[in-house]
Amino acid sequence: MNMARKRNEADGKSRGYRLCLLLAGILLVSAVLLSGCGAPKAAEPDGGAESSSSASETAAVDDGDACVIAADDFSNLQLSDPTVPVYDRYTLSERRAKGLTTVMPDLTPYKEGKVVYLTFDDGPDDKNTPAILDILKENGVHATFYVTGQHAELHPDVLQRIYAEHHAIGNHSYDHDYKKLYTSPDAFLSEMERTDEIIHGILGVRPLILRAPGGVIGHFTKAYEPALKASGYVEHDWNVSSADAAPNHPVAQDFIDNIDGQTDQPVAAHAAIILMHCSEGHEETVKALPEIIRILKAKGYTFGVVTPMTPQPW
Ligand SMILES: [Zn+2]
Repeated sequence: MNMARKRNEADGKSRGYRLCLLLAGILLVSAVLLSGCGAPKAAEPDGGAESSSSASETAAVDDGDACVIAADDFSNLQLSDPTVPVYDRYTLSERRAKGLTTVMPDLTPYKEGKVVYLTFDDGPDDKNTPAILDILKENGVHATFYVTGQHAELHPDVLQRIYAEHHAIGNHSYDHDYKKLYTSPDAFLSEMERTDEIIHGILGVRPLILRAPGGVIGHFTKAYEPALKASGYVEHDWNVSSADAAPNHPVAQDFIDNIDGQTDQPVAAHAAIILMHCSEGHEETVKALPEIIRILKAKGYTFGVVTPMTPQPW
């Protein structure tokens, strides 16, 4: 009798323990699905296994929703908070293989008051991008990084840090080669897909936003827009340019003046999308950034990150 009771108690304890484990597991999965992407994933066999120490520090101090992961049918993307990045857990080839849609639905843009989107193209590098991330963190603001596949491959740890610190990541082609990119929508999209695969290999998610290198004007024909939509991408150019990539070697004060002047124009009153660069050679952009953020805050802007719901700049 005693032995049997003991065994029953033991079984009961073991069942309780298994139930607790199951509940903890469900809670953990729900937390990941709901709050999204506080830290880079660690489960893929190649790449992305280690988060940098700075990334984990930030994940610990940051709060709020990390990001939103698109539903299988993209039905959860009509959002109203312009500060939360949005990603897809599947690559396009995974969506095709699973029979899931790849087409981005029509979305209503954010109707927020006065939002500025700081965007940094052509990175990540291992010097200017981390310096920019430090400044953004010090100022408590978020930004959008349009990365190339080539740079993501070279600096996966910096890409992980961008992600872990809740900035948005967009696709900016594999190697920024206009001649290859703009021969046809298919050529453009196959480079974007290649870059998605690289980003997905590092983070476990792919961007739903992209920026055409050099902008769409003079590059896109009418055929590009429907092709992008069919592949679940939304493109954003900019309406404020720091001109930090101008050929005459401008300096930090020029970028500050450009942004200060252009954000007073009516086109930027509702949504100012600012073009800057964070790659090699852009030390002057790093130098200008604290003053740029100070001016934008003084003008009453809040800081958003680009998502498929971000209003078009024009
Ligand atoms: Zn670029």
